[in-house]
Parts: sequence; structure tokens; C-alpha cells
Amino acid sequence: MAGIYIHIPFCKQACHYCNFHFSTSLALKNDFTAALLKETGLRSDYLGKDSVGTIYLGGGTPSLLSEPDITGILQNLYRHFSIRKDAEITLEANPDDVSPPALSGWKRAGINRLSLGVQSFFPEDLQWMNRAHDEKQAIHSILDAQSAGLDNISIDLIYGLPTLTDKRWRENIAKAVSLEIPHLSCYALTVEPKTPLYKRIEQGKMQDIVPQDQARQFMEGIQWLEESGYEQYEISNFAKPGKRSRHNSSYWLSEKYLGLGPSAHSFNGKTRQWNIANNPRYIQSLSRNELCFEIETLKPRDRLNEYIMTSLRTMEGLDLQHVNREFDPEKRDQLEKNAAKYIAAEDMKKENEKLILTRKGKLFADGIAAGLFFLDEADG
Ligand code: SF4
Repeated sequence: MAGIYIHIPFCKQACHYCNFHFSTSLALKNDFTAALLKETGLRSDYLGKDSVGTIYLGGGTPSLLSEPDITGILQNLYRHFSIRKDAEITLEANPDDVSPPALSGWKRAGINRLSLGVQSFFPEDLQWMNRAHDEKQAIHSILDAQSAGLDNISIDLIYGLPTLTDKRWRENIAKAVSLEIPHLSCYALTVEPKTPLYKRIEQGKMQDIVPQDQARQFMEGIQWLEESGYEQYEISNFAKPGKRSRHNSSYWLSEKYLGLGPSAHSFNGKTRQWNIANNPRYIQSLSRNELCFEIETLKPRDRLNEYIMTSLRTMEGLDLQHVNREFDPEKRDQLEKNAAKYIAAEDMKKENEKLILTRKGKLFADGIAAGLFFLDEADG
């Protein structure tokens, strides 16, 4: 089963921390939509005969699109791909775009899951991040979606920002729990180069993040959510039973996916490719019926390292039998040997042929994965 990701590269305003590809000018919105429809047709054989189990409209801010735009994009997908009847179809929406009429339109278009960019329920945090919505809109977007019957909801929350006290972090989680949100994505604020946040911190205009505060809030968040019946099925993702994101899970399971729109990535099992992250050039190349992307053929070593990185972030962990089967028995043995120091440090445990990070180990997931990577060219 495959997935399709569509990148909508427009936002109302730039959040200070964001390094995704987007434009705050909507002047090219119609040209972009036409180009996207064309790209869909040109890439209709990318997934081969695989049926599509998930569609994800992300960005940017897909909720800026009109109902006819969303309907047109989805109908075009149905024309070109074999979409399963029970497909999970997610729309990322910002709370300020959510209203009862918008929700009815999204449902009519075929959206059956919403991912809401709430980030915090407190004005101090929202203003610090330069979000376009306020705390009332954050709550109303959830209540309105639930009233409209679009209750398969995920919300994003960010922790580790200087304005977010431990008390408020706890209240953010308590609010999500009390609103019976079935899925939460909790991200640590990161300071990415070239973002307004990075520049302002460098200029001394904004306070930098404190890693110890982030680590504490990460650990507390896990604890509170687990006590409230959520499983941490991936480091940043928490779900009530049966409510995992099927789309994101397919990335972690290395399934095929097609990415459409500027900056979108695609993976077909052997190669990874990414579209140009530039709206005018994306539109121009498609006006000539040309695709504009870069491509990389993955060596077995790259695929194994990707598997190490993604699987260690999941609750199920790194399956040594999978490495044995799909890669090389020697690699399996080497991995087990290299994991010994993390097991001794209680950052990892081995259970039924799986290497699984402990709660403490999750704090250092990226470093541990890097420590297990195969680096020697000869390994390729
Ligand atoms: S709305 Fe989302 S994509 Fe747009 S600037 Fe903010 S974080 Fe980035």
C-alpha cells in the first residue's frame, strides 16, 4: 500500500521558527493548483500498480485552499491512481481557517482526518511563535471539527520554547486530553538556520531555547500522555488505541510514497527524489510539461541507515530479523554488537529480536541512531 503527499506552499504569515517551504504571497495560488494537477497526471505511473491507502495534504497551509480547489485536487488523484475505499485522507489546517462552512466543504471534498496546527493554548506562546491564530481559535477549531463529525483529529503541540512554563505545558496536554483528541504530535522547538527565530536569537532579540528545559518537558509529556491512555508509537507521536496516523506510519515502514508540489519528496523503494522548492520555477517547468526534481539512488547502506533511524524512533523498535532478511546477516550481528553499549547504559533494551529505546534513550534517539549507522563505503 502506498501513500501520496501533497505540499501546499502558501501561508498567511511566517511563524518565526518555521523552515518549511512556503510563500506568504497567494498571487500564484491558481497557477500552482493548475501545475499540481498537471504534475499528478505526469507522475501517474510512479506508484506502479500499488493501491493508495493514505493521502496527506500538508504544507504550508492547505486550509488556505478553497473547497473547489481541494475537491479538484482529490478528484484528479482518483482519476490517476487506484485509491482504496477506506483511504485515510488528511488535511492540515490552521485553527484560524477552521469554521463550520469550511468543515462542511472539507467533508464534502472527501477529507476524513484533520491535523490542526494548534501548537499551544496560551497567547504568550502563540505570539512568541508568530502564529496567525489565538487561543480561542485553537479551542473553537477543535470543538467545531468535532461538532461537524470530523473528529478524527490530530493536533500539533510544541514544547521547549522559552515562554512555555512547565505549568503551561502540563495545561496544554491536559486541555488536549480533556478535549478527547485522539492523536497528538508533540515537537521540540528547534532553531533552524535562516529562520527569523535563528536571526533574532543571534541578534539577542529573542531568548534561546534551554536544552535541559526541553528534555524535562519531553519526559514529562511522555509520562502524562501515557497516564492518559495514549501510546507513544513514535518519538513525537501519541495516539489513542487504533488512532495512529496511517500516513506517517507508512513513512516509518519504508512504504512507497509519491510527493507532489514544490519541495515534496517521493520514495519508490530504490530512489528518493525531491521537487524544486521554488513556486515560480515549479509552475514554469510544469507549464512546459516538465518535472523539476533531483534524485538520489539509495545504496543498500543508505536504506539500512534510514531503517535504523526511523525504526528506532518507533515503539516497535529496530527488528533484527528484518535486517537479517532484507539486508545482510552480518549487518544484523554487527548491529547487535554495536547496540550492547546502549543496552548497558539502559538507553535501549532487546526484546524478541527487537532493539527498543527506553524512555531515557528516546532523549538521545538521533545520537544513538547515528552511533549505529554503517559509514564505511565498503559496507555499501
Ligand atoms: S503555518 Fe506551518 S508551514 Fe506556515 S509558517 Fe507556520 S509552521 Fe510554517
